[in-house]
Amino acid sequence: MSDMTITFYGAALRVTGSCSLIKCAGKQILVDCGLIQGDKNSAELNREPFPFNPAELDAVVLTHGHLDHVGRAPRLIADGFKGPIFTHSASAELADIVWRDSARLSAHDGEPLYNGANIDQTINLIQPMRYGETAELDGGISLRFFDAGHILGSAHVEIFGQGKRLLMSGDIGQPNSPIIRDPTNEWEDSYDAVVIESTYGNRLHKSRSDTLEEFKQIVKRAVKHKGMVLIPAFAIGRTQELLFHFNHMIDSGELPRIPVLLDSPMAQRVTSVYRSHRECYDEKTWAAIDKDDPPMRFPGLRELVSSTESKTVKSMSPPAVVIAGSGMCSGGRILHHLKDFLDKESTTVIFVGWQGYGTLGRRLVDGVDKVKIHRQQVKVKARIETLGGFSAHADRDVLVTWARQISGKPRFFLANHGEEDAAKGLVKALKDEGLKGCRAVEPDQTYEI
Ligand SMILES: [Zn+2]
Repeated sequence: MSDMTITFYGAALRVTGSCSLIKCAGKQILVDCGLIQGDKNSAELNREPFPFNPAELDAVVLTHGHLDHVGRAPRLIADGFKGPIFTHSASAELADIVWRDSARLSAHDGEPLYNGANIDQTINLIQPMRYGETAELDGGISLRFFDAGHILGSAHVEIFGQGKRLLMSGDIGQPNSPIIRDPTNEWEDSYDAVVIESTYGNRLHKSRSDTLEEFKQIVKRAVKHKGMVLIPAFAIGRTQELLFHFNHMIDSGELPRIPVLLDSPMAQRVTSVYRSHRECYDEKTWAAIDKDDPPMRFPGLRELVSSTESKTVKSMSPPAVVIAGSGMCSGGRILHHLKDFLDKESTTVIFVGWQGYGTLGRRLVDGVDKVKIHRQQVKVKARIETLGGFSAHADRDVLVTWARQISGKPRFFLANHGEEDAAKGLVKALKDEGLKGCRAVEPDQTYEI
């Protein structure tokens, strides 16, 4: 038996359901326990028993608060796990919001995946971590957290034991993302193996500055035509980034002062977590705070809390911007606004994230001329715009640069968290750089470190 092994029970040749089991010195550590999404059988798959006994786990590590990394964690506790859960303190607060939303949504498919009591117990087990901090576990195993620059609190996690040092990337951010710092590149130790995410392992993003320019021109045009701007956005990360850009563009006069309505209770809760964790901010954001311009706050921003407030949008006179969930228009308050405004030529809908097959967002992006919302036929006369450059994930070239900066000469690079083409595309790019032991991991396979 090797000194350290890792088995990928999720996010192998796919992007959701992250769940990796590490065995070392007779101890078992689970890294991430995410929800499986975007699969016809997702609802059943998420309810299947775990392929290991949660009661026998010694510790759980959560790299960040996204649903596909934390969404099944309260089930571990319901199934007998009683050990510590290590995660960044900001991730703990985001996970709390995500779990309560997920419990509510999963109830639509039958029994909820877990209940409020399971979530409370999960939160009680959390040992909050900071970047750079080390936690000591039994068996001489240690964990260390580094900034992954993906969303607030996101971490790369180092696991050291039996003389082996493993780095789990979690999701890796795109440099120059607003608010948070870039992924760390200050490595002190050598690594035996690195697990690297590969969501965009075979693709390059449009430049952020081109995307922002395009975004600004789209909003300006809508304002000129006195139209409503609807932006379906995910609650974590993308919404805060949009608020950051509106803040900057309105303060600098690049955009006129228009009402910007944040119409999502979940996004409001997430935004307040973002506002409170200033220790995660980058230098630019601090420079703005020092000039008395806190990010994500600006004249014209209104948070619509109640559904009664949300209903007043219908009678507002445009121009105005509404940011609402869900990001793929599969539910949430955005549906009401689409129903009220899609049939107006003056309306603009801006998609800032990827739209899954079969979703309403996808049909709109594909250019259908009518849609059904809440059993009502609605003609699509609005302008539909898609901006692909707002990604929280590193693209292929950034992933390769990240891998090259890892100190020492890791013997393995294991690509996970990517569809087959993306994972294999990244493996090829890493090999082309001369990196050793690069492979795309297979589901349920164990690798010796
Ligand atoms: Zn993520």
